[in-house]
Amino acid sequence: MSTISRMQQELQLLEAHSNLRRLPEMTHSGRDVTVNGRRMLNLSSNDYLGLASDRKLREEFLRTLTPDTFLPTSSSSRLLTGNFTVYEELETELSHLFGTEAALIFNSGYHANTGILPAVSDTHTLILADKLVHASLIDGIRLSAAKCIRYRHNDLAQLERLLKEHHAAYRQIIIVTESIFSMDGDQADLQALAALKHRYGNVLLYVDEAHAFGVRGRHGLGCAEELGCIRDIDFLVGTFGKAAASVGAYIVCKRVIREYLVNRMRTLIFTTGLPPVNIAWTLFVVRRLADMQERREHLTHISRTLREILLAKGYACPSTSHIVPMIVGASADAVLHAEALQRHGFYALPVRPPTVPEGTSRIRFSLTAEIRKEEIEELGNKL
Ligand SMILES: *Cc1c(COP(=O)(O)O)cnc(C)c1O
Repeated sequence: MSTISRMQQELQLLEAHSNLRRLPEMTHSGRDVTVNGRRMLNLSSNDYLGLASDRKLREEFLRTLTPDTFLPTSSSSRLLTGNFTVYEELETELSHLFGTEAALIFNSGYHANTGILPAVSDTHTLILADKLVHASLIDGIRLSAAKCIRYRHNDLAQLERLLKEHHAAYRQIIIVTESIFSMDGDQADLQALAALKHRYGNVLLYVDEAHAFGVRGRHGLGCAEELGCIRDIDFLVGTFGKAAASVGAYIVCKRVIREYLVNRMRTLIFTTGLPPVNIAWTLFVVRRLADMQERREHLTHISRTLREILLAKGYACPSTSHIVPMIVGASADAVLHAEALQRHGFYALPVRPPTVPEGTSRIRFSLTAEIRKEEIEELGNKL
């Protein structure tokens, strides 16, 4: 069979199982999206603090720009001529905020997660990764020379056994987890992970805070801030594309780790740095994160309301955060539920295999601070 007809056949199979993906055509207006001529409240956005739809904030930022400072490209890798002072300003700001020795910026969370693990691992490394970590972390593990074992989601007893069994056989072990998980919206017990790590001299901890940066902690620095364990995490990674309403990612870490990554991390070395104007916008937002406590509290409040509604309707709801899945099971049911909600003006999307395990297809609500309590209650009436 030719390549093209094999591709067609595979796509038809996906379609038959309600698992075919398409790039949705849509236009945006603040909190709303318009799809197929229907304007709906966006319940699938990662704009957790509502900063991306905050026009005032953009106006304020635009006033700081001139044709000399509006730099839409860095024209080079940061290791060659693409390193602008605004990069170092942002890194200094982040290391101050987190109280770490250093910080380093990457083009995206995907670049961070596919670059850091291959850089710091060798064949004497064992990676112990939570079963539900993000695809970018899985790809980073695949690109590394390390051996990897996935432990059951948040099963720290199993992780403890694996550490006991293997720590003597490897030069280093890296535990890899998210803080808030993308699909279930539940959390890793970072304090318990830190305690486990400290039992051994050769165990390091890698935490991806993509969904928590901006959202958790008194200054919006994430779950590690909230739980007082920033210092226990060797590779503390977060992204700017979600709550920070920008693009890119960071690691906050020891100085030596930063220097090592600058020398060894391929997704930092072999790519054009982000445009300085994007870094300037990120810095502009990051400096304001501490003042966003009201938005964080509102988001916490409406998220709890939605979780309570789902529990009252008999859905199992693993979430402890603003990412709230309604797990319905079959992909076709998830699609039908999503379509019904969309008819009522709520833009909610189905999530299906392979993103989630077979039989756990769901509507994934991803709430933002711009959504009102009444809208959540109205949504509850339609579920
Ligand atoms: C979104 C996300 C990423 C990817 O970050 P990008 O900046 O969008 O590439 C990585 N990890 C997790 C857990 C995410 O949710």
